[in-house]
Amino acid sequence: MKKPIRPKHYIVTDYWLAYYATDHCTLCGNSGVIDTTNARTGTGLHVGRKNWCICPNGQAMRAAGHSLDNAESIRAENNP
Ligand SMILES: [Zn+2]
Repeated sequence: MKKPIRPKHYIVTDYWLAYYATDHCTLCGNSGVIDTTNARTGTGLHVGRKNWCICPNGQAMRAAGHSLDNAESIRAENNP
């Protein structure tokens, strides 16, 4: 069982502020979700999924228990 983390993880938030914050989150555009669902390797292996962003929006949505429709990793057995 995963241990719940605080809604605002300060180390992660400081990192996000240093590298990914402008007027908006440059990772997710303030949606709180990073969607790499269609990402593939050079050989065509599906490797993406939806993830909560490390920004405060993403952290808050994760902590609130919202679900992502394909948050599970796409495993090798599902790839051609
Ligand atoms: Zn973000």
